[in-house]
Amino acid sequence: VEVRPRRIDGAPVADALDLGDAIIVPGLVNAHTHLEYTFLRGAVEDLPMFPWLDRLMAFKAQLEPEDYLASAMQGAAEAALGGVTTVADCTDSGMAAQAVARVGLRGIVYQEVFGIEERPSVPDTIGTMGKKLATLERDVAGSLVRVGIAPHSVYTVRADLFRALVQFAQKQDLPVCIHAAESQPECELVLTGTGVRAERFLRRGIEWEPPRCGVLEYLDGLGALRPGTLLVHCVQLSRADFRVLNLSGASVVYCPKSNAQLGNGVAPLTLLVQKTSDRLRSSPYLEGRCGIGTDSAVSNNKTDLLEELRFGLLIQRAWRRTAERPTAADVFALATLGGARALGLETQIGTLEPGKAADIAVFSLRGYHTSPCYDPVSAIVGSATAGDCVLTMAGGKLLTRNGRLLTASSQWINRRRNAVVQRLKQTTRQTS
Ligand SMILES: [Zn+2]
Repeated sequence: VEVRPRRIDGAPVADALDLGDAIIVPGLVNAHTHLEYTFLRGAVEDLPMFPWLDRLMAFKAQLEPEDYLASAMQGAAEAALGGVTTVADCTDSGMAAQAVARVGLRGIVYQEVFGIEERPSVPDTIGTMGKKLATLERDVAGSLVRVGIAPHSVYTVRADLFRALVQFAQKQDLPVCIHAAESQPECELVLTGTGVRAERFLRRGIEWEPPRCGVLEYLDGLGALRPGTLLVHCVQLSRADFRVLNLSGASVVYCPKSNAQLGNGVAPLTLLVQKTSDRLRSSPYLEGRCGIGTDSAVSNNKTDLLEELRFGLLIQRAWRRTAERPTAADVFALATLGGARALGLETQIGTLEPGKAADIAVFSLRGYHTSPCYDPVSAIVGSATAGDCVLTMAGGKLLTRNGRLLTASSQWINRRRNAVVQRLKQTTRQTS
């Protein structure tokens, strides 16, 4: 970003864009996505967390790498068209890295790792992951994308593997992302070794000695809570979890709609972002390292980040019975500087100021649904939608203009999507 000392009238006409009545904001940061599941939007409905996850796994088993690529391309295109210029994406197939790079978004793409059973061994899993990371690095060369790893969660990665993965990440200077404290069964598994997830372990013969603490405390004991670790969800936190989170320098992503859709609850946003607490008056919580994410299209059918902001604000006010907090400015900060800080990108993005990268989104105020506008931040959070975005730019390059993606073709994506949907509908009919 550069601000010229002269009025823009003096600039050559070819460089000037007339955006009409519009708001220019820092490119939005969607701090948690699974872009490769975009083709599964609406495929798994009305189920709690773990039955939902089982259905998702069954659908995943029917997708080819090219399907994942097209699906992630659609997700990345949708993000860009809605004003998002940075994503923090978790990918199992690995295809999302190419998709994010091709669409021209900035971001971190984390290779997911699973391994709750004894086999494969730790060295084998690390070896396989190393090969996947090399492919991802090749796929994102020359782009605005960085690669990281995502040990999926405490219920899908066993303790010794978790430790080895975070040590590996530390040695290789790779960012880490973890799904943490998302559901009640996850917290029960760690605290008491009971509940539906623990019963599943028993049935599958998986040995599990509960650490008898909160999920974040457990992760801290595994060495996983470090500056730069991105903790997604954090719905159910104990006092001790708050303490270790506060001391660790890790970051949090608020995913209000996904948490609501799967019946997991409401994350304590106010506690997460407030600067001081009564109990620890001198200790700043998170120092602003809290972002907001839509999660995937499977657990949040509408991945419109502005809708996420509005819902994220309203559910907090309803839950806490207060009209005063959070404000539109509080949640807008999550999608800009908060997200940037959570990803360690605050020196590059998150605000529009000289010296930062030109990551910009422009939202039109021409619609009846956005008129009149008394305050731009209230308009963005309260009434605008992804569809009002008329321009996105990342690193000074135009990605979208007037609802059109300028960086990739949609024909191939559409063909592939139709083929996938037909295939999945057929197998669903056969099995039902
Ligand atoms: Zn997720």
